[in-house]
Amino acid sequence: MILLRMGWLWGAALALGGLVASAGAAEDRPPNIVLIFCDDLGYGDIGAFGAQGYRTPHLDRLAADGVKFTRFYSAQPVCSASRAALLTGCYPSRVSIQGALGPQAKVGIHADELTLAELVKQRGYATGIFGKWHLGHERQFLPTHNGFDEYFGLPYSNDMWPLHPEYAKLPPGVAQRKRGFPDLPLIEQDQVKIPAVTAEHQQQLTTWYTEHAVAFIERHRQEPFFLYVPHSMPHVPLYVSDKFAGKTSRGLFGDVISEIDWSVGEILAALDQHALAENTLVIFTSDNGPWLSYGEHAGSAGPLREGKGTCWDGGVREPFLARWPGKIPPGSVCHEPAMTIDILPTVAGLVGARLPAHKIDGLDIWPLLSGAAGAKSPHDSFYFYFADNELQAVMRGKWKLQLAHQYRTLGGKPGGQGGQPAPYEVRKIAQPELYDLESDSGEQHDVAAAHPEVVRELEALAEQAREDLGDSLTQRVGQGVRPPGRVATGG
Ligand code: MG
Repeated sequence: MILLRMGWLWGAALALGGLVASAGAAEDRPPNIVLIFCDDLGYGDIGAFGAQGYRTPHLDRLAADGVKFTRFYSAQPVCSASRAALLTGCYPSRVSIQGALGPQAKVGIHADELTLAELVKQRGYATGIFGKWHLGHERQFLPTHNGFDEYFGLPYSNDMWPLHPEYAKLPPGVAQRKRGFPDLPLIEQDQVKIPAVTAEHQQQLTTWYTEHAVAFIERHRQEPFFLYVPHSMPHVPLYVSDKFAGKTSRGLFGDVISEIDWSVGEILAALDQHALAENTLVIFTSDNGPWLSYGEHAGSAGPLREGKGTCWDGGVREPFLARWPGKIPPGSVCHEPAMTIDILPTVAGLVGARLPAHKIDGLDIWPLLSGAAGAKSPHDSFYFYFADNELQAVMRGKWKLQLAHQYRTLGGKPGGQGGQPAPYEVRKIAQPELYDLESDSGEQHDVAAAHPEVVRELEALAEQAREDLGDSLTQRVGQGVRPPGRVATGG
């Protein structure tokens, strides 16, 4: 029965001709898509990007067999907004998903948005997500209502949890409010599987997600599939299974990354075991940079400035690897800028799916992934929003303009110890600052005074973005913004 259905689909795909991606040979079935998405993993946190104190051999293999992007960006430096961009191909501002949705949130991804899972469903893909969702936890927003056949994981961040060890050290009032979180559930399909996650459960999350991912591959090996593995780790509070506890010289953080690397290895091994590697695009990246205030429990942005919660490159520039044997040149490196919003339209091209009728912001980056000669970023510019829809930075080519705004920083002080955060201070950018990322990837030298024409060009681009997507810093309402999904009131 399944084979019959597949045969019809591929026949239809071939008949449609132009819809079939040029990447796939005619006799091929469309590629499987495996998307592994970490939480708060920094630019410098895996071997191929210079990690120290632990090894990531499976990720190293992924890099050696595929392409590494040195300028791949998340659309926002925070969990929910970043995931909204990944799964809709839109700037988070366009789909009105901001920040990190907490247990009290009454909004989520709008039913009219086309998710990556819904997109590949056009081509009959099996779809599964094993990990953290974070695009609304009310039933109507859950993955199985947004294109995924299968879901197992946390509905939001693993620190939105009354048992978070950090709360023991907080001032009483704050601790009480935080401990007032409802129990953290683990969801299977759209039902509560574990009503109150414990520390022991947190230790098993990476293992459980991996086991579900491997079983999914096994179960769907004879049809095209989209497997999405958004790990809860290495978001604090960090937890690791006994398999990896105490195994690295980088402490718990290194142990946690080692377990994620193991997970990648298990998924790659499952693809090999079922002879699927040659027909599978594997992508590995992260939602935002390291949460630096957690110090030894945080990752590293490597040479980049600042981390999560800022629009400095440390907050938004991510490690990115992609592998597809025979289609992506092994050991290749791409220095062109790209963003998570580009994954949806790129996958659409590869599987021969229609893009949504509504506007999206991402563009097809297959020429960059596949190492096409002379391929350039399809984007003229990129926009970085954070907080309550503040347009904080604009990037065009090597230039990045930090607009006037406030940001958080440790100001050179060390981060926290033992899972406790150190306090941030707030700093203000009073006048736009211009950085040349080609010669100054650490955004240390403001060259605005030397390049007033570049500043003017980027400010003009910022104006266009404000018109389209809004900007709370200048009290602008965007004309191209769509509403979030809201909890049905039953009225
Ligand atoms: Mg995150």
